[in-house]
Amino acid sequence: MHLRDDAGGAGDDTDRVMAIALDIARGNANAPAVDAPSAAPVRIVTPVAGVSPVTEDPRASLVGLSRAEMAEALVGFGVPSRQARMRAGQLWHWIYHRGVTDFAAMTNIAKELRASLADAFTLARPEIVAEQVSRDGTRKWLLRFPPRGAGKPVEVETVYIPEEGRGTLCVSSQVGCTLTCSFCHTGTQTLVRNLTAEEIVAQILVARDRLGDHPGGGAPDGAVVPREGRFVSNVVMMGMGEPLYNFDHVRTALLIATDGEGIALSRRRITLSTSGVVPMIERAGAEIGVMLAISLHAANDPLRDVLVPINRKYPIAELMEACRTYPGVSNARRITFEYVMLKGVNDSKADARALVKLLQGIPAKINLIPFNPWPGTDYECSDWETIETFAEIVNRAGYASPIRTPRGRDILAACGQLKSETQRMRARERLALAAMVAGSGDEDD
Ligand code: SAH
Ligand code: SF4
Repeated sequence: MHLRDDAGGAGDDTDRVMAIALDIARGNANAPAVDAPSAAPVRIVTPVAGVSPVTEDPRASLVGLSRAEMAEALVGFGVPSRQARMRAGQLWHWIYHRGVTDFAAMTNIAKELRASLADAFTLARPEIVAEQVSRDGTRKWLLRFPPRGAGKPVEVETVYIPEEGRGTLCVSSQVGCTLTCSFCHTGTQTLVRNLTAEEIVAQILVARDRLGDHPGGGAPDGAVVPREGRFVSNVVMMGMGEPLYNFDHVRTALLIATDGEGIALSRRRITLSTSGVVPMIERAGAEIGVMLAISLHAANDPLRDVLVPINRKYPIAELMEACRTYPGVSNARRITFEYVMLKGVNDSKADARALVKLLQGIPAKINLIPFNPWPGTDYECSDWETIETFAEIVNRAGYASPIRTPRGRDILAACGQLKSETQRMRARERLALAAMVAGSGDEDD
């Protein structure tokens, strides 16, 4: 990892990891950020210069279009149909592989065509309302997307978590959520709308822009990025929303992300997290082929009915069956089971044993997530000792390193100073996501 001078060692030595998890588990908001020995200030850039917001641009965007959709758009624009496929391929290369935002840069396309494309279409990015950089290198962008049809502009957060061998981007699929998981703050907000494929892809492109991750780019001064390989090497659909309730847009976006001529990320480095929309799980495997994470959180139906109410519709037995038959599942491509540690609710030794028993025969890994409280919730995070005992039982059953280290605590705190109450709570939820993403989607490495 390239470290900023002020960042100190960001190595994941066990003691430090444990200490961070301990602070979080104790809910000690004032505990020092033990992974950032020097008290370097959080860098906040707002707004980001040099970005032309897409707001109120009458031109259609070509970002987020599948190859077929792009060819169709070109034919509609007057490109002869025999050329459309080839032109769409060229545009794909420039937009997704090279990350250009200006048609003028597309040097293998005739000048006149470039100019007329620019009149009709846009490649503009969403507005970056704020960019925050944590002392540990975690970055968070607040992005504003224009209204689609009626309604107001919407805002989502995208989080980048650099680690030694990879950089993980946590991407949102919806604004709000229709589901009402009782421990999740997003669950208390109604669904505002689905994000379009363009908006999902744009989250990845913005992160790559800002990190200098496009070919020929380079990380900005002081950025923390993996030493080798791509800066955004992994994507987790663990931001706001239920991705399987926005299936078509998520599929289009992830197929662009995984296409060798698109963003070209390995399918094994993309993880889709679902609360358990059973009828869509098979399709996710067959049509997208990415790694799967299940928000399990309880190993029996009565408790899961309360924590993850979609369980009443698709109970645990059906969910486990969908996991057993998930296309491509194997010991080399395990399903991640997320389990939030809630004090006195799901954290007993009996719960741990029930979890292990439930997962028997399923190629699985388990992420224990310290609960992140938010104003108004009655839940508390389990005590550290309880998490440790739980982890031991899970470990003895053969599941390694189950507790994930929260990252970027300082920018979340700073975020609370900057934004409205609603946004602050939403940001706190991002901490839960950041805690969870490490370790997702790396089965082939
Ligand atoms: N809707 C999808 C993906 C987004 S939520 C899903 O539910 O899987 C990503 C993860 O964060 C889920 O496992 C969710 O249960 C967890 N989560 C939500 N709120 C949390 C909180 N306050 N503390 C810890 N984890 C939380
Ligand atoms: Fe929606 Fe996931 Fe939160 Fe449940 S945990 S309310 S599915 S975002």
